[in-house]
Formats: sequence, structure tokens, C-alpha cells
Amino acid sequence: MKKVLILGSTGSIGLSTLDVLARNPDQFELWGITANSNSAQLLEQIRQYQPEYAVINDEVAALDISKKVKAEGIDTKVLTGAENLQELAGHDEVDIVMAAIVGAAGLLPTLKAVEAGKRVLLANKEALVCAGPLFMQAVSRSNALLMPVDSEHNAIFQCLPDGQYNSAQIEKILLTASGGPFRGKSFQELSGVTPEQACAHPNWNMGQKISVDSATMMNKGLELIEACWLFGVSSDQIDIVLHPQSVVHSMVQYRDGSVIAQMGNPDMRTPIAHALSWPERTSSGVDILDFARLKLDFEGIDYSSYPCLALALDAAKSMGAMPVVLNAANEIAVDAFLLRQISFLEIAKIVEKTLNSTNFSEPVSIDEVIALDSEARVIAQSLIDTNQQTKVSAKL
Ligand code: NAD
Ligand code: MG
Repeated sequence: MKKVLILGSTGSIGLSTLDVLARNPDQFELWGITANSNSAQLLEQIRQYQPEYAVINDEVAALDISKKVKAEGIDTKVLTGAENLQELAGHDEVDIVMAAIVGAAGLLPTLKAVEAGKRVLLANKEALVCAGPLFMQAVSRSNALLMPVDSEHNAIFQCLPDGQYNSAQIEKILLTASGGPFRGKSFQELSGVTPEQACAHPNWNMGQKISVDSATMMNKGLELIEACWLFGVSSDQIDIVLHPQSVVHSMVQYRDGSVIAQMGNPDMRTPIAHALSWPERTSSGVDILDFARLKLDFEGIDYSSYPCLALALDAAKSMGAMPVVLNAANEIAVDAFLLRQISFLEIAKIVEKTLNSTNFSEPVSIDEVIALDSEARVIAQSLIDTNQQTKVSAKL
């Protein structure tokens, strides 16, 4: 029986993880759940699963949930605060940590789980994007088992012998991209798109931030950087291939001409189940592919149509401070877009201006990563504020 902690249990990946765990009660026990502010959903999860621990960022919500849980005779301990979150991630009793917080906010708890040598299921790509080298050093120091959950990276892992990249045998990693909801649209058509349109992904049902990232293709850029760190490769060893159906989740091309692909319906429960039980296989509840109806298309990618992806590729080539700044500026810009403060096309502009605003130096400790992340957020936010003031003045 493996004890599982889900960081971000109220999110899209969190819910898919709960579903897979519920299908395999003889193998996994839900030990802990955590959320940012969705107290109603966390309380429901406590009632349903009665884990040992639950953490919620919001202090008032924690107090309220704690009272309700006690009154109902449930033993779950309800905690709050960053320190408690990190402590649970490294707790002796935990075997498996699902890292499914969105954004750089997930870095410290995920790193705690790594340092404690857990099996860490990594959905939170931003943690690896912003702390790549330090994160991977912590993995090798602690002997943690880092399992990719992002569907493309999980696919690549499955297409590599023992999940290891061996440059003598491999030509390329082929990272597939659906192209998101706006594939084939011109910049002109994109100028007025709304958050609702950007979040309507044709194949996947995901949280808002990653949905917007998929529409700008920043998600593919973050995934390129994520793949560089996970598999120890440089960006020129990875090609991005457009594949609108999201059935081939990624591929590895070997030097003898063989291409190995991992396929499946677009449902995150497959990579989650794989990461939970590798090297075994466990049931996920995902429907099998119907080959009689399957149609698969592939095409090359035009980087000039996706400015966010081009920026991420540049950041992947230079690495150092750039991925941290790219990610932080993108998080701020996506928030502003969701709040209707900037337009869809302004997301790339804010990220680009932040990257070019000053000479950032490479962080050499986690504290420096966090300081650089904050610095980039302040710059991106001030660019957004100036942008809004300019729009107001233009109207007057
Ligand atoms: P989501 O927005 O649906 O859920 C995010 C979770 O993180 C929620 O439980 C929320 O309460 C928690 N959270 C948010 N901010 C927090 C904070 N400051 N402190 C603590 N907890 C916080 O997001 P999601 O779609 O589930 O994505 C989660 C991560 O997985 C992201 O990094 C995303 O890129 C990655 N991912 C998601 C998918 C997908 O299909 N949804 C696929 C691949 C990778
Ligand atoms: Mg992905």
C-alpha cells in the first residue's frame, strides 16, 4: 500500500489523480490533499476520502474547514501555510507525491518531496522550468524517482529504454503539439479573442493557466525546456511536430530510422496511472483507442505564427536566467489576460519586453531563483500597468 500526497488536489490534474487512486484502492492510499483557496471543494474531498492531512493556503478557510471536520467526527488534520505544505511534501510517511500545483508556486513543496527522496510525479512543469539545473541536482543527490506526468514527457519516457536518453542511439525527440484552439488562425483573427475562447481546448480539459498557455503555444515552449532537463538534452535535439488530434503524445526517433511513439486517448489519467505504478501498469479508466475510426495528421511548425513559442525556444537555447524570467512574466501576463487587462496578443509582448528589460544573471541557488522570479514579476506587472494607463489616456 503506497501513501499518496496530492499537491493541488482541487485542480484538473488533482481530480484525475483522485479518480485513478479510487480505481486502485488495493495499491494506493490517499494520505494528503492540498489546495490554494477552493475551500468548498477541499472540504468535500476531506469528507469523501478522509485523508490524514489537508492543507489550504487560505488561513481563514483552514480554520473554518477544521471546525466543520471536527464537528463531523472526521480525523483529518487541517493545516495552512507554506511551511506546513513543505513539511508534508517531505513527510516520512509519504511514498508518492503528485506535484500538481500550477506555476512557480509549486517549486518549494515539489523540491521538498525531491529532497526527501520520494517518488515525485511531476505535472508542475513550471517548477522544473524555473529551477532546472538545481532541481535535477537535487534529484540525483536524493535518489528521488522523478516520473513525468505531462503527457508528452510521459510518452517520451515510455519511448526511451528505461526512460533514459542515450545520445549514441537517438537522433531526435519529437514533441507533438495540438496547436491549441487557434491553430491556423491569423494574428488579425486573434486580436480580440476572449479568455473563454482561449480556454476552450479542442482535445484536453485543463486548468485555465495551461489552457491559455496551450492557445499561445507557450505551453509547448515550457515543455521543450522541461524535456531538456528531464532527459538531459539540448533544445536542438528536440523537434516540435504539429499533430491536431493529440493521440500520439510524443515520439523518439532512433539512428536506425525507427520511430517509437506512445499513443492513447487524450486523457491525463493514462500518464498519471503510468507514473504512479511504473514499471508496473495499472488501470486508469481511459477508453482504449478505436483504430477503425482513427485519423492522424502531422505537419511541421511555423515559429513565426507562435511568438510565445519562439521566445521560449530562445530561452531554451540560452538557458541561465531566461527560463525563470520567461515563466514568471508569462504567469503575470496570463493572469492579466484572464482578468481582461491585456489582449491575447499582448501576452507575448509583455513576456518579450520583460526578457529584454535588463541583463538578468543566472541564479545559482533556490533563493536566487525565487528572487529572480519576483524581480521578473514586478517588471512584467509594471509593463501591464503602463500598458493599461496608455490605453486609458488614449480613450480620454
Ligand atoms: P488547475 O488550475 O486546475 O489546478 C491547480 C491546483 O493548484 C489547484 O488545486 C489549486 O488549488 C492549486 N494551487 C494554485 N495556486 C496555488 C498556490 N499558490 N499554492 C498552493 N496551491 C496552489 O491546474 P492544472 O490544469 O491541474 O495544472 C496543474 C499543473 O499541471 C500545471 O503546472 C500544468 O502545467 C500541469 N499540467 C496540467 C495538465 C492538465 O491536463 N491539466 C497536463 C499537463 C501538465
Ligand atoms: Mg503537455
